[in-house]
Amino acid sequence: MGLFDKMKERLEDFRRPGYFKKYDHKWTMVVDLDKCNGCGACVGACYAENNLPVVGKDESGKGRTLSWIRIERYVEGEYPDVKVKFIPVMCQQCTKAPCETGCPVYATYHNQDGLNVQVYNRCVGTFTCATYCPYDARRFNWFTYEREAPLDKQYNPDVTVREMGVMEKGTFCIQRIRAAKDTAKDEKRAVKDGEVKPACAQACPTGAMYFGDMNDANSQVAKLANSPRRFRLLEELNTDPSVIYLKKVMKDGSSAE
Ligand code: SF4
Repeated sequence: MGLFDKMKERLEDFRRPGYFKKYDHKWTMVVDLDKCNGCGACVGACYAENNLPVVGKDESGKGRTLSWIRIERYVEGEYPDVKVKFIPVMCQQCTKAPCETGCPVYATYHNQDGLNVQVYNRCVGTFTCATYCPYDARRFNWFTYEREAPLDKQYNPDVTVREMGVMEKGTFCIQRIRAAKDTAKDEKRAVKDGEVKPACAQACPTGAMYFGDMNDANSQVAKLANSPRRFRLLEELNTDPSVIYLKKVMKDGSSAE
């Protein structure tokens, strides 16, 4: 079967009724923008947990930063009557992820946890996934970055260190999800709500980030997902993201994105 036929078959898969219900879990993150103060602790925690390289000022200036979460700023209104707002943006773990249809070597795919994962040693660095991602969530390793001693002791042994030519992005700290699932399996029980916390959610000082399994109707994220303040980024693109935002409550009682 040729590559084109394989891609066609995959698109047909997406259209099959009930295709998305087959996942064992549907890990979901809810970010309450009314609680977020833009401190960036989530960004720092992601760097530490996932062995992200710090590329320096020059490379950052070329847009080559490797941060998996960014605090996106945007301005509303006309100067001087402007409102500056911000929103933490990470991989949205789209259920219908455009990056997956774009990768020519299937380095990115959906796993049984309903996550959009990345196989680093399959990636050939064509950049297609990054081009297809409407959230600009993917990062490319232009070089092999190494931490000088003693900072190499900081590496998290649960996470692979990537090399030049590989595309990467966040996956809700999949290593923590895996550890919680293994513990639950050993204890012959299901993973409890709140048992898994990605590094960003753990570090957030205001508790703006919630994480859990949407397949569990009693989970905190499933309840928050019904909030009237709920919205998702670029929902009109039909990507069906697994990150849900709750609008900020304004002084006049209204809510705004
Ligand atoms: S750590 Fe929490 S409060 Fe700070 S930017 Fe991230 S989500 Fe917002």
